[in-house]
Amino acid sequence: MVTTSIQNWWNRYRSIPIVYRIGVAFVLGSIVGLTVGEPVTVLEPLGDLFVRLLSMIVVPIIIFTLLMGIRQLSPTSLGKIGGQVVALYAITSVIAVTIGLTVANILEPGTGMTLTDAEFDAEEAPGFTEVLLGIVPENPVDAMASGDILAMIFFVIVFGLALVVLRERTDDRDIQDGVETFFKLAEAGSEALFKVVWGIMEYGVIGIFALMAVAFAEAGVDVFGTFAMLALTLVLGVTIHVTVVYLGVMILILTQQSPIAFLVGIKDALVTALGISSSSATLPVSMSNADENLHVNEAIYSFSLPLGATINMDGTGMYLGIVAIFAANIVDVSLTLTEQISIVAIAVLAGIGTAGVPSAGLVLMTLVLTQVGLPVAVVGFIAGIDPLLDRLRTMTNVAGDLAVATLVGHWNGGVDFSSGSWSDEPQAVP
Ligand code: ASP
Repeated sequence: MVTTSIQNWWNRYRSIPIVYRIGVAFVLGSIVGLTVGEPVTVLEPLGDLFVRLLSMIVVPIIIFTLLMGIRQLSPTSLGKIGGQVVALYAITSVIAVTIGLTVANILEPGTGMTLTDAEFDAEEAPGFTEVLLGIVPENPVDAMASGDILAMIFFVIVFGLALVVLRERTDDRDIQDGVETFFKLAEAGSEALFKVVWGIMEYGVIGIFALMAVAFAEAGVDVFGTFAMLALTLVLGVTIHVTVVYLGVMILILTQQSPIAFLVGIKDALVTALGISSSSATLPVSMSNADENLHVNEAIYSFSLPLGATINMDGTGMYLGIVAIFAANIVDVSLTLTEQISIVAIAVLAGIGTAGVPSAGLVLMTLVLTQVGLPVAVVGFIAGIDPLLDRLRTMTNVAGDLAVATLVGHWNGGVDFSSGSWSDEPQAVP
């Protein structure tokens, strides 16, 4: 009797879409964190467990899906798709920082505030040449072990293209079979990992509750009052960027799909990004949404999404611009147009070399502030509100990656959110 009612309850619970359950956990966790405060931080390991579970499958899912995607590509089509993806990443990032600077110039966050002393030990952000060189791994196993996404993508693409070329050029049946086995293994591996993603998301209900409770308990209520203007500027900037650039231009006008259907399709990735503040760890969920809901060809998303998690950070770039104005307002200096244009360039470039991990933006901020001669102490000053703002940046970063995958998918063969227009069979991407 008791067992049957538990079973019924469980079935009813499971019939609610996972994203709603996580959404409720998100809200409840935030409320509990704000009301209970400090004691709630004992829940931290429960949140960390969720992030670890997702991080656990990032490396294998990138390798498997990338190999599976590459079997449909030639070096020329890869070059064409790669060019489109990188160009869109660059253009949208420049637009994001510009929107951020414009909103910040209007709302003037930081005016009238005084800088209180706050310590922050930032790591050095890597130099540009270092980033470019780092794309080529000295040791691919090391790149995989340390989760170096750019280096991993480079190696898997080189290896995958070699397999494709080998399959086409050899008459040796054994080698052809061997190549097919590689690709079949990759397909089975990625399908299995997509199943794992959904198992992990079931746990996400607890994980996100804990993450939000701890985040709000640590930030406290005061932080909202103090940094209200900074937060408002980011919220407004992000809303304009997502609505106009992603939903309006990229999805509605250029892809000719419904923005609502797009948002519904990526909802799991959005709540995950909001909960865990890491676009890299959100990758398994983004890939699953791109595959199952947006029906983007795997040849495109398997490459563009991991690349985006590392080099495309519209939300972060926008935040860097906003914080530069915030810092200038605190010390009462006004930045010239030339200085603001240089901030756009630094903010876009800074995001390229940094992986999408929690608080990556804080590290990059020291770079931006130093470059334009503003006080780096601002980084420590805003460190309290950062874990909350980071969630919004991460969500924007992830939405941007998915919007680009969708548009490039459309340009190279079509996407249809309602039914899926790609066949299951491997197909040549033109
Ligand atoms: N947490 C962000 C991401 O993973 C980066 C940042 O803005 O700190 O995309």
